[in-house]
Amino acid sequence: MEWKPKTIIEPFKIKAVEPIAMTSRAEREAALKKAFYNPFSLPAEKVTIDFLTDSGTGAMSAAQWGALMNGDESYAGARSYYRFEKTVKDLTGFEEIIPAHQGRAAEKILFQSIARKGIYIISNSHFDTTRANVEYTGAEAVDFPAEGALDWGKPAPFKGNANVQAMESFIKDKGAENIPLCVMTVTNNSLGGQPVSMQNLKEVRALCSKYGIKLFLDTARFAENAYFIKMREKGYENKPVREIAKEMYRLADGAWQSSKKDAIVNIGGWLAMNDKELSAKCRQLLILMEGFNTYGGLAGRDLEAMAVGLDEVLDENYLHYRIASTEYLGNAMLKAGIPIINPPGGHGVYIDAKKYLPHIKPDQFPAQALTCALYLEGGIRAVEIGMLMFGKRDSSGKFLPADMELVRLAIPRRVYTKSHIDYVIEVFEHLTAHKEEIQGLEIVEAAKILPHFTAKLKPAK
Ligand SMILES: *Cc1c(COP(=O)(O)O)cnc(C)c1O
Repeated sequence: MEWKPKTIIEPFKIKAVEPIAMTSRAEREAALKKAFYNPFSLPAEKVTIDFLTDSGTGAMSAAQWGALMNGDESYAGARSYYRFEKTVKDLTGFEEIIPAHQGRAAEKILFQSIARKGIYIISNSHFDTTRANVEYTGAEAVDFPAEGALDWGKPAPFKGNANVQAMESFIKDKGAENIPLCVMTVTNNSLGGQPVSMQNLKEVRALCSKYGIKLFLDTARFAENAYFIKMREKGYENKPVREIAKEMYRLADGAWQSSKKDAIVNIGGWLAMNDKELSAKCRQLLILMEGFNTYGGLAGRDLEAMAVGLDEVLDENYLHYRIASTEYLGNAMLKAGIPIINPPGGHGVYIDAKKYLPHIKPDQFPAQALTCALYLEGGIRAVEIGMLMFGKRDSSGKFLPADMELVRLAIPRRVYTKSHIDYVIEVFEHLTAHKEEIQGLEIVEAAKILPHFTAKLKPAK
């Protein structure tokens, strides 16, 4: 008889293991103090469960490790490049395939070729490196998230969508001639790893065609997005995820990817498009900054691992396990009364720290305080997405409270098992019972640019 088990099993078995730190509370207390209450300054060796990021932290498969040995390290025309190129061409349908060492390198090459002062780039939401690369050229990056996307607690199937109407008003206001490109980030990383629907992509495609604007996709998590479409969008229930992903790409004029996410490699990325003139400009910068056309800042073996990873990630058993395990953690947290971005995203769970820790004053870094408590109580490393990361300050240099005050638990791919996740849930239950004891923080020292990476803090008086 067919039956559906409740237990999520990892659709792989373990071939190589890496020990993780098992520390005492006293050790963690000392480590946290030494790191000035900033988890970025903790040595990874003192972390039990590392949820800092899902970027480049995935576990490669035996097939990927095997492919490394097949790497052709020829400077020009390496066999590994052609394998990689074929994989990306089949997936995306684009003609010009440009490898780059990671996502932000692809972004730098693209925006330096297309953007300058006086122009605007529009998006559902620019990821922070995307925004930084747009702004570096003097252009402005403008976000148009869907209505309700910032209403963290209220569930909706596609909170990653763009607000197409708001985009159109903006185009009419600023003039389409000043807007060369629209970026759809799939999934929407800045807003909780929420998916974008095919319907929304089609509407944005129509809008861009109407005004002669190029549509590019930022596809770090393309497979997770395609899987959400299959699960949640009418008409896609029976379509293979691979076909859905292909359909997404075929709505666009180009795309790029940080392959450190859904290609499950430790380093890598690419940029792809059909426009020959634009790609020629991009290739000039590629050669200047990254390397020759057939390796783009990577080793031949990295290109092999990417080609294998891009195929493996579309395995629906893998995607079911991936999305189900993020959801399992998110649902357990909701059950424990912890306010999260609901529903949980593809690659992580985001906690609304302001709501979870109302006793900590908004100017005492509630989200950073929660990351410290998570480490102290459970050896778990997470990241603050709040006033420290956004870094807005008044004229005296005092940090100002931000609209978003979140903690992100980003889950590396194929790294942790269900019992690791159960442990994390237990830490949260314990923390929730004692959360009034969590103290706010104050700044000791903070850099002007990207302060969250290096800031030093201490418990607030
Ligand atoms: C990670 C990421 C990038 C940047 O890629 P890197 O590989 O970290 O340089 C760009 N866009 C999105 C959506 C990302 O998640």
